[in-house]
Amino acid sequence: MTGDTTAGGATVGGASGALVELDNVSKYYGNIRALEGVSLEVHAGGISCVLGDNGAGKSTLIKIIAGLHRHDAGDFLIEGEKTTLASPREALDRGIATVYQDLAVVPLMPVWRNFFLGSEPRKGSGPFKRLDVALMRETTRAELLRMGIDLRDVDQPIGTLSGGERQCVAIARAVYFGAKVLVLDEPTAALGVKQSGVVLKYVAAARDAGLGVVLITHNPHHAYLVGDRFVLLKRGVMSGSHTKDSITLDELTRQMAGGSELEELSHELERAPVPSHLGGHPGGGPAGTN
Ligand code: ATP
Repeated sequence: MTGDTTAGGATVGGASGALVELDNVSKYYGNIRALEGVSLEVHAGGISCVLGDNGAGKSTLIKIIAGLHRHDAGDFLIEGEKTTLASPREALDRGIATVYQDLAVVPLMPVWRNFFLGSEPRKGSGPFKRLDVALMRETTRAELLRMGIDLRDVDQPIGTLSGGERQCVAIARAVYFGAKVLVLDEPTAALGVKQSGVVLKYVAAARDAGLGVVLITHNPHHAYLVGDRFVLLKRGVMSGSHTKDSITLDELTRQMAGGSELEELSHELERAPVPSHLGGHPGGGPAGTN
């Protein structure tokens, strides 16, 4: 895929500035094929969406990019350099932050405490060293505001925020700690329409801040609203790869819904004889026909 040209005419690929690139990547668990020959590019200021049903391989793909699992074949490039990440810590050090659906937060702790969890600034020295609470409070408030999130009170326990707000805090946190690539695991899966809209706004804000975003979702409408590249996965293989200018929402939805498979099923249902105990005729054909 390296060196391909998009419909827009720009050169793409590791050599030309993709932050993260998967080229023909495969992953097997024993003899189970979780991913085979999957390619994906993530560019600064772009949103690459990965769409797929259950078991399509989305989690496996996240785990490879996040440094949890190693790929078995193909190339994984970070800023053009072939890489095999040894751990999630290494992924973070290389600028890849992953926000999982079940966010790792401490519900009873204040928003600001969760914002800095694991990276708390301290002040003073020696035995007088202590958490710099004022700085954490102020920074959290300012950073959330910068992303357009106006929280009434950063002292409230994060568990009192809505699911959408918590996703937004996690995105703002990744931006603040200098992520270059943000991987979002189904951030709107458990949310209603309005909250999904709020989260997608912050996904777009992260993109506008210059990050490259990988948005995993099974919702083509959400993907199409913000995405500029779409990779469709089906049972571990890539069933489609499109740039936004090369596919319509209707077509993306059709492909995601099963496309030709659904059409075939619909024809089969039309032809299928109705069993006699359900009112069909012994000779076959739908009930009510002669
Ligand atoms: P879902 O949306 O249901 O989580 P997914 O698209 O994330 O699905 P994966 O979890 O990546 O899909 O799974 C892809 C395939 O790999 C599935 O067939 C799954 O059973 C298999 N698989 C995933 N993880 C493992 C594992 N640790 N060991 C064995 N097989 C696995």
